[in-house]
Amino acid sequence: MSIETTLVLVKPDAVARGLIGEVIRRFERRGLAVLAIKGFVFTDELLREHYAHLADRPFFPRLAEYMKSDLTVALAIAGVDAVQVVRTMVGETNSRTAQPGTIRGDLAVSVQRNAVHASDSPESALLEVARFFPDGLSVSPDTARVCDNYATDEL
Ligand code: UDP
Ligand code: MG
Repeated sequence: MSIETTLVLVKPDAVARGLIGEVIRRFERRGLAVLAIKGFVFTDELLREHYAHLADRPFFPRLAEYMKSDLTVALAIAGVDAVQVVRTMVGETNSRTAQPGTIRGDLAVSVQRNAVHASDSPESALLEVARFFPDGLSVSPDTARVCDNYATDEL
């Protein structure tokens, strides 16, 4: 158990459908803490970096076009074991088989246009938070807003 900060992206399909607030609300209600928020539009360079593991896949050009189509909202989200907690809340990649109750299972119907991105390991969370918030975070994950939701022996 440790306090982690993970990266969530509200993707262009969710932004277009007016779901920025709904996505943030789910994390806040759970008791996770939003440490930073930023809106931006993906460039090709940033996309190739963020989705480097998918660059050779046949769907990559379509993925790139979709990801550049509108605003993306980046969130740095903190909590104990936040990487795993957030991935579980997000649900599996294919929204059509994602469990109801998950963000994808409730808010999307597509494999590609699946509403959100979330870091998949503590290592990628560190890299991805630094990628989308290169100036660092102005709020520490050790803040009371994070810690008060846990017993002291969980921290
Ligand atoms: N994706 C896609 N087609 C696929 C698999 C993935 O368009 O067959 C897109 C989808 O938007 C997904 C993203 O590529 O969220 C990143 O894929 P990854 O396997 O990392 O899934 P995730 O970690 O987002 O669940
Ligand atoms: Mg992934």
